[in-house]
Amino acid sequence: MGRRAPSGVGEHDVDLGRVAVMPGLVNAHTHLELSYLRDEVPPSSVFVTWIRGVMAARRGHPDPMAPEILAAVDEALDESVACGTALLGDISNTLVTFGPLTRSPLAAVVFYELIRFNAPEPEAFVDAARRQIDALAPTERVRASLAAHAPYSVAPLVLRALRAAIDRDPFAPCSVHLSESQEEVEFIRRGTGPWRTLLEQVGAWDPAWVPPGVSPVQFLDDSGFLDSRVLAVHGVQMTERDLRRLAARGATLVTCPRSNGHTGAGAPPITEFYASGNRVAVGTDSLASAPDLNVFAELATMRALAPNVPAPLLLDSATRQGARALGFDADYGTIEPGKRARLLTVQIPSAAIDVEEYLVSGIDPAQLRWLEI
Ligand SMILES: [Zn+2]
Repeated sequence: MGRRAPSGVGEHDVDLGRVAVMPGLVNAHTHLELSYLRDEVPPSSVFVTWIRGVMAARRGHPDPMAPEILAAVDEALDESVACGTALLGDISNTLVTFGPLTRSPLAAVVFYELIRFNAPEPEAFVDAARRQIDALAPTERVRASLAAHAPYSVAPLVLRALRAAIDRDPFAPCSVHLSESQEEVEFIRRGTGPWRTLLEQVGAWDPAWVPPGVSPVQFLDDSGFLDSRVLAVHGVQMTERDLRRLAARGATLVTCPRSNGHTGAGAPPITEFYASGNRVAVGTDSLASAPDLNVFAELATMRALAPNVPAPLLLDSATRQGARALGFDADYGTIEPGKRARLLTVQIPSAAIDVEEYLVSGIDPAQLRWLEI
């Protein structure tokens, strides 16, 4: 980079060499505040076992502002930039990541994630959360919004109050983990299984709760929760019918296939995600379930799981679709006049004939440079 082109070009032109120039990537789902759990939670073949591992590890760090937690957030921000990410969808239960994000070069939506199955005063609970994010000063690049953790961990009346709060906000994407594991499907359909046991053990069970008796997607849709502002994360267990329903609502499916493999959720049906007409975005999930925050590595896993999905569609998911879902498409996601020039160069070896296919084959951060303009 920076080498003057030999001939036929103006003095301000720069020969970047054999590179692809592309918009900075969008990591539409991560949990930066869990970065201190890197390599701390072993892989599992059973999702609830993995969740128990996360809960146990978090109990050892009760102070969300602990130095090791904040240091890991800063490292994760640096790693994200080094991996070519320009924009994040960051899930937080503590909001500790908001300040560090505003001081970083990244753009982000920080989703303040609510998790409360037994909530005697759902509206007051959501109002209090709303006031907490209203107290944060958004910047040009970093905004806050609300999210629900999952249909098995958030009470129906909290979901309703959350949805009402989202509807009152002119800018407000919303996120929810949805149809991630078989245990979730069983719990929402029948109210039984490992989730029921876990809720009872942690004292969160609500004896008045009635199992919806349908799929998690239908449950959220019947609750009026699903629309085009929702990022539905994972979708591993969605049926064809679920996928059609989600597509009809215009929600964005965010796939995190490496995390799904680590947690025991299973392999996401990525070919079906696209075939059903859904908008698809890409996330790494947290470092508690992914080896790194490299969205290019996530794309390589998607390519392996869905060899027939065209590479340009996968790249569109990791850029334009993520930016649109997070409400940042006026500035990010494509190279267009008027948008921020947050552009990335990727070294392309001369042997690579199909550049788009190469870009979804696994790119090492050493191949990346941010374009200085
Ligand atoms: Zn997540």
